[in-house]
Amino acid sequence: MAPAARMRPSDDALSIVMEALSRRFADRFSVSAAVREQHAHTLTWIPNQPPDCVVFPQDTAEVAEIVRLCAKHGAPIVPFGTGTSLEGHVNAPFGGVCISTERMNEIVAVHPEDLDAVVQPGVTRKRLNDHLRDQGLFFPIDPGADASLGGMAATRASGTNAVRYGTMRDNVLGLTAVLASGEIIRAGGRAKKSSSGYDLTRLLVGSEGTLGVITELTLRLHGTPEAIAAGVCPFPSVAAACAATTATIQCGIPVARIELLDALQVRACNAYSKLALPEVPTLFLEFHGSDAGVAEQSERFGEIAADLGGGPFEWATRTEERNRLWQARHDAFWAAGAMRPGARPMSTDVCVPISRLADCVAETQVDIAASGLIAPIVGHVGDGNFHCLPLIDMANPAEVAACEAFVGRLVERALAMGGACSGEHGVGQAKMKHLEAEHGAGAMAAMRAIKRALDPQNIMNPGKIVIP
Ligand SMILES: Cc1cc2nc3c(=O)[nH]c(=O)nc-3n(C[C@H](O)[C@H](O)[C@H](O)COP(=O)(O)OP(=O)(O)OC[C@H]3O[C@@H](n4cnc5c(N)ncnc54)[C@H](O)[C@@H]3O)c2cc1C
Repeated sequence: MAPAARMRPSDDALSIVMEALSRRFADRFSVSAAVREQHAHTLTWIPNQPPDCVVFPQDTAEVAEIVRLCAKHGAPIVPFGTGTSLEGHVNAPFGGVCISTERMNEIVAVHPEDLDAVVQPGVTRKRLNDHLRDQGLFFPIDPGADASLGGMAATRASGTNAVRYGTMRDNVLGLTAVLASGEIIRAGGRAKKSSSGYDLTRLLVGSEGTLGVITELTLRLHGTPEAIAAGVCPFPSVAAACAATTATIQCGIPVARIELLDALQVRACNAYSKLALPEVPTLFLEFHGSDAGVAEQSERFGEIAADLGGGPFEWATRTEERNRLWQARHDAFWAAGAMRPGARPMSTDVCVPISRLADCVAETQVDIAASGLIAPIVGHVGDGNFHCLPLIDMANPAEVAACEAFVGRLVERALAMGGACSGEHGVGQAKMKHLEAEHGAGAMAAMRAIKRALDPQNIMNPGKIVIP
């Protein structure tokens, strides 16, 4: 996990950078151990690797200033949003400067007539949606955590709504970024379409801070649906729940959310969120449209579920009931953790073509049972994307090793089915070793060439995605 020791700058170079940042940013600069550790926390088995300092710029010009200083002295840079990424993305294995976007939190403009908004990267998705609510608009990407929009773009995040509204790939129209040289570029724009030139927006979306710091985003907005129906549907098996998902998608029912919880995860949510659901594999669903539309979609889904031995499908349109249900779904990670006090939930995800979903989940359940791990499964199954949450005692090296081996087998299984080693969490440090198996040697060489061209000194979030 730690090639290129050369990336740790000399102590002298680092002192020059830190003294200059301290003078320039005063109380917006910190070397406190607690602040540094908090900016490197990682929800993997990889230990915390803090940066040497954290700086809190307020705009693009200040970010460019910091990047130019770091470039001059070869200091690594780790951009930071809210630190909810799950694969060791914000660790600083070579130290350096963490650039927090916490204070870049302005909603610059909303253009309701064009259905877009311009935001600084530290705005969180919940704050944007609170701001939009009165205008009958919303931003649909919902990774559960109240992540920053810059971090979500950088990880190409998705979540529960992606089956209907797409991922950050589809909902970032344009961005401003500071490249490793300190140069400021604009990519994309407010036009809904452009066929001119290389798509630098999509190159930066998902680049995890390894190609530049995103300092502004233009986002696609959507109209708030007239009616929303949500409900839960129990199934006799995970295979039946997956088959119902596949049938729903294949029938063209425009489901907005379709989420699988296996029996263990339902038990965890019952205990944590005070629900009383039958402890069997369950789908949580949501439909968006007109009153008549959501009623029709709900009924059609109920018929599909019944044909597969599932149900009854109970749905409601009352906001409080829907919110309670989805809060429980969003708390699944913490609910899983609460099942085994002292253990840490390790959330990892894979994605497969939807026709292979049932096989992949079923084989994974067999693997979990054989490996002796406690690992609930939840998934955005409408996209063929699911998460396993092994609950690991970090003080037990055998358990940590068993977890790592399990994740390796999970990835191999997904890739063998034509899938991806991550559907939404990204690469960080933990999934780097799987990239070549997914993309092949040629594509990896192209990725390394892009990294070398845009970041010749390898200062942008080094030790993540590719080693150039
Ligand atoms: C309980 C829980 C549930 C989750 N569920 C989901 C889910 O359903 N779907 C999903 O997709 N994710 C999920 N996640 C993961 C996480 O929320 C996403 O990865 C999120 O997009 C990270 O955003 P952040 O602001 O926390 O980014 P950070 O963790 O701060 O950073 C993530 C990466 O982006 C880089 N970065 C951050 N800001 C910038 C910037 N401005 N410019 C360039 N690079 C930047 C960082 O260097 C790092 O590599 C979940 C996490 C938790 C804790």
